Amino acid sequence: MASTVEKFSYFQGKIVPAEDANINIETHGFQYGTGVFGGLRGYYNADFDNVFLFRIYDHFKRLLNSVKIMQLNFQATPEELVDITLELVQKNQRKENIYIRPIVYTSALELSPRFHQVPADIAIYILALNDYLDTKRGLRTRISSWRRINDVAIPTLSKASGGYINSALAKSEALIDGYDEAIFLDDRGFVSEGSAENLFIVRDGTILTPPIHSSILEGITRRSIIQLARDLGYTVVERDISRSELYICDEAFFSGTGVQVAWIKEIDNRTVGNGEMGSITAKLQKLFFDIVRNKEEKYSSWLTGAY
Ligand code: PMP
Repeated sequence: MASTVEKFSYFQGKIVPAEDANINIETHGFQYGTGVFGGLRGYYNADFDNVFLFRIYDHFKRLLNSVKIMQLNFQATPEELVDITLELVQKNQRKENIYIRPIVYTSALELSPRFHQVPADIAIYILALNDYLDTKRGLRTRISSWRRINDVAIPTLSKASGGYINSALAKSEALIDGYDEAIFLDDRGFVSEGSAENLFIVRDGTILTPPIHSSILEGITRRSIIQLARDLGYTVVERDISRSELYICDEAFFSGTGVQVAWIKEIDNRTVGNGEMGSITAKLQKLFFDIVRNKEEKYSSWLTGAY
């Protein structure tokens, strides 16, 4: 993934040059992964000469829900975090596609893994970022030999730093074996999600996606795709999906901030549908890409112009 960190970051309560936003190696959150993070995109549209941030308020609401689940010592409102982020984007003065990464982490130089009685802080940095996975080619995927972390081990609705050990294991396994991405099963053996993205399949014109209880992260792109598909008149069902349904579905695609909407060509060496991008996937992908660049008036409330 080609990416460059922008000039300024938000660190220890103020905007500083990115090279000065460094933590001490003794930092609690670095030792234990005791942090929660977010990730949202801004899309540049030359016609408006503006960068549009996609559902920024919802992203910060989820970040603060993650904070609440983990009982991190951090207080802010989504509005305050939106304001800080807008100031940071403006300070960087870049007109391009960007990715914004806020992280709330246990910031003290202390031992003993815990969330309570340890100070926490927020840091935010910005990358220039285009595609994370190819959205045109069709992805080759495999079922991971690793199961998705369970909500009773690490709460899956919280986007916890430490939980991404699970994602890293699955992603590396898939890449080392020559695939583009992994698909997790949950602890019951039902389909969960990708290493860092939600999954949809299409069977006989109906769109299916695993429910919250399949240990997924509740993606903001997932929520958007469900609404868009229903607005287009499709039936979308959140239900348990069996592994073998993946092998006989007509279409499959991932959704997520990084992956955007990316179609899946192959699952466990079986071709999905006829090996081309499916018509429902194509429709949703086009609509999504138009919306994020503010080319669809109807969904412009999902966007916040940075300038
Ligand atoms: N699942 C996981 C594990 C993720 O890391 C992500 C990326 N945040 C997603 C799903 C997709 O969520 P969103 O659409 O909010 O980016």
